[in-house]
Amino acid sequence: MYDTFEIQQRREKMEDCLFCKIAAGEIPSNKLYEDETLLAFYDIDPQAPVHFLVIPKQHISSAAALTEENAALLGHIYAVIAEQCRKLGVDEKGYRVITNVGEDGGQSVKHLHFHVLAGRSLAWPPG
Ligand code: C5P
Repeated sequence: MYDTFEIQQRREKMEDCLFCKIAAGEIPSNKLYEDETLLAFYDIDPQAPVHFLVIPKQHISSAAALTEENAALLGHIYAVIAEQCRKLGVDEKGYRVITNVGEDGGQSVKHLHFHVLAGRSLAWPPG
């Protein structure tokens, strides 16, 4: 017998993970978009006029833990980012998608998340 998506999600949810709690609605967030596999919400400490995060509901610790099995999820994440940026009207001037990995990468929350920054000219390289 196969697990339902919900059972699988519950199993993969990490009890002490902040973003798992946000994905489960146990901690409130300013939601931009949600479906059964991911959540997009505005960052509580925005670094640009538009700054939202996209997280998978499934617990994945960082981009370093991704495998070929996550290919469809990643395609979906980028499609949702493109759609939300179009809706927010920032697609023409552009935006940046970043995922920080590990200590040197500046990752503070150990649950895969993509920052989407827009609404100002962004410097390169990042600090
Ligand atoms: O890449 P990094 O792990 O540092 O990013 C975590 C991000 O999560 C930060 O930009 C922080 O402001 C955001 N955050 C949030 N809501 C929380 C806790 C953190 O938007 N409750």
